[in-house]
Amino acid sequence: MNRPYTIATLGSHSALQILKGARDEGFKTLAIANRETERLYRSFAFIDDVIGVDRYSDFMGLLGELEARKCIVVPHGSFVAYLSLDEHKKMTVPYFGNKAVLDWEASRELQREWLARANLKLPRHFKSGAEIDRPVIVKLYGAGGGKGYMFIRDAADFEVRAAHLKEAYTIQEYIIGVPLYIHYFYSPIANKLEIMSMDRRYETNVDSLGRIPAAAQEGMDVSPSYVVVGNSPVSLRESMLAEALRMGDDVVRVSKEICGPKGLFGAFCIETIITPDMQFYVMEISARIVAGTNLFIDGSPYSYLNYSESMSTGRRIAREIKTALLSNNLRSVLDDSSVL
Ligand code: ATP
Repeated sequence: MNRPYTIATLGSHSALQILKGARDEGFKTLAIANRETERLYRSFAFIDDVIGVDRYSDFMGLLGELEARKCIVVPHGSFVAYLSLDEHKKMTVPYFGNKAVLDWEASRELQREWLARANLKLPRHFKSGAEIDRPVIVKLYGAGGGKGYMFIRDAADFEVRAAHLKEAYTIQEYIIGVPLYIHYFYSPIANKLEIMSMDRRYETNVDSLGRIPAAAQEGMDVSPSYVVVGNSPVSLRESMLAEALRMGDDVVRVSKEICGPKGLFGAFCIETIITPDMQFYVMEISARIVAGTNLFIDGSPYSYLNYSESMSTGRRIAREIKTALLSNNLRSVLDDSSVL
């Protein structure tokens, strides 16, 4: 029934999950892979076709072919890494999601404004090293996956270790608590927000510093780093779920005010740190499927509550596209630039 349409994505990040979900929902599937990953994506039976490119940035050259094949592109984290905002906006191939959200996500200032308007608690932001009055994390712009972040104790520590940095950075209050990444799906068709799953990241070396007693660390030149090497599943204390849902609802509500009537829809993730008084502090929002959802290709405890079947975030995306097609309303789940 959905076979005339092909769900296409870049072979990276969460492509396996997206394409498996698309196949399970009856779509044809296509991966655009590079020379190193082409063989991997060809090895899966649920991927109908693989187009090999030398570089992911060559994706833009394939747009005509994707349109001819009746593709619907489902973006994931690597799209933002490999294609510029301008390239995103130039694409007229059917695109799941609202590209207007990208501007609000890409700028740390706009993102803060969005999250603050949604009544989320944010770590304090310091404009300069001189203002620092508590431990902070210094985040280099363009750093990804927690690479290149620095934990700084105080203003004097900043002077010694960070004041000389040439790259642009932001200085954020360091929140002491446990990180929790909440994966949501907002359906514009049902006007309903679902919690799909949750994960925590496994980061080296910050997640192992507790294995060495603080007294033994004294005098050793160790400082925490936040390089992500894996993810593990988490289920949240049930009494905290209502607030998790409230945060997602408010993020979607505000997005409709700031990024046109469609606002943010589909998959997104709010990255939080929970303090001992059980407050969620929000570090960031990712406005699309995040790699932490790969833990739940077979569904999560939360998605099971809603579906009683294996429902990954990737499959949930395909289900939404299918529902839109069945009600002759495909545009409701595509960016307005999409030419059908
Ligand atoms: P990605 O783009 O992959 O989500 P990123 O580079 O944007 O990653 P963040 O998610 O902002 O990085 O942060 C990486 C890690 O740094 C977090 O998982 C967390 O452990 C730590 N971190 C970030 N901000 C704070 C903060 N304000 N307080 C304490 N720890 C933080």
